[in-house]
Amino acid sequence: MRQKLSNAGRLVVKIGSALLAERETGALKSDWLASLAADVAALKAEGKDVIVVSSGSIALGRRVLGLASHGLKLEESQAAAAVGQIDLAHAYEEAFKSHGMVAAQILLTLGDTEERRRYLNARNTIETLLGLGAVPVVNENDTVATSEIRYGDNDRLAARVATMMSADCLVLLSDVDGLYTAPPGTDPDATLIPEVREITPEIEAMAGDTGTELSRGGMVTKIEAAKLAVAAGTHMAITQGGVMHPLAELADGARATWFTARADPVAARKRWIAGALEPRGSVTIDAGATRALLAGKSLLPAGVTAVSGAFDRGDAVVIRGPANEELGRGLSAYTRADAERIIGHKSREISDILGYRGRTELIHRDDMALKRKRPDAE
Ligand code: GLU
Repeated sequence: MRQKLSNAGRLVVKIGSALLAERETGALKSDWLASLAADVAALKAEGKDVIVVSSGSIALGRRVLGLASHGLKLEESQAAAAVGQIDLAHAYEEAFKSHGMVAAQILLTLGDTEERRRYLNARNTIETLLGLGAVPVVNENDTVATSEIRYGDNDRLAARVATMMSADCLVLLSDVDGLYTAPPGTDPDATLIPEVREITPEIEAMAGDTGTELSRGGMVTKIEAAKLAVAAGTHMAITQGGVMHPLAELADGARATWFTARADPVAARKRWIAGALEPRGSVTIDAGATRALLAGKSLLPAGVTAVSGAFDRGDAVVIRGPANEELGRGLSAYTRADAERIIGHKSREISDILGYRGRTELIHRDDMALKRKRPDAE
């Protein structure tokens, strides 16, 4: 199981509030955070991309504001988050700095990971940060999120971030070490399930409720997160985060429940593009671009001869060859109106034509699912 961690090129680590803040006082557990930062540095030294999704803003902020430790109204939680997020971001900045790493704060709401245009923006920004060697530290944008547009728990937010970023592995560091056959606190016969290959109704029934005072998400939201993750080709682990160096412990085979994904994230994303999205339009491409696509390249505006439909940035479009045959589908990096203006042109002319510097590709190869490939293509 632990190979899933060592083989992962990109992983998301979710940290619950109970790990970061003392239960009684709400004080930051800085020694623990220092040990986590050392683990993250070690993973990055192995060449992995690491994204942290961290709770803790409410737990840290309510102490500063003198609010009660439980039973807060939504707006009181949001006020606490506004204060605590500063401390939380600062704590990561400091902890990462001592390992020569840069922390980047990303605050997201549900819409940012589900609405396609905002999804693309968030994805591109996080991708750029990873490329620059920074460690994105994500939390929900609690202060602006109303009940309709909030996740409310970081387990599902972490799963969305993992799928959005095509991560190979998601680790939920928790105050429990995994999923048990029955509530471990009350049932002496409860045993830990080391691997879940399929999330059956029986598995869901085992989730019960292991929520604690400080963390909103119990086992139920963790199973929800696992469903999102495995469907997108991301393996997920639930493991005890309360120990020092929890990621090193997991790599050494610590107790955990692993939810295994069958496909890899790139294949799962391509399947999603090919099947799940309703195309909003189409682009017709010339013979040269067809050859390039079949050889695994991105679609540049120069190779496009016509566009149709009413699509927005991030919408799915059908890609048609010179004889109008469907070659596949992809997500457009431009709106229909902008695409129409740049087709047939070299990518370096885009900024002169549109007045802004957009992406070089009309459809990036990662955002494309083709029906067939040349056998010699990668
Ligand atoms: N976003 C909340 C916070 O930072 C936590 C939500 C959760 O723990 O799931 O306090």
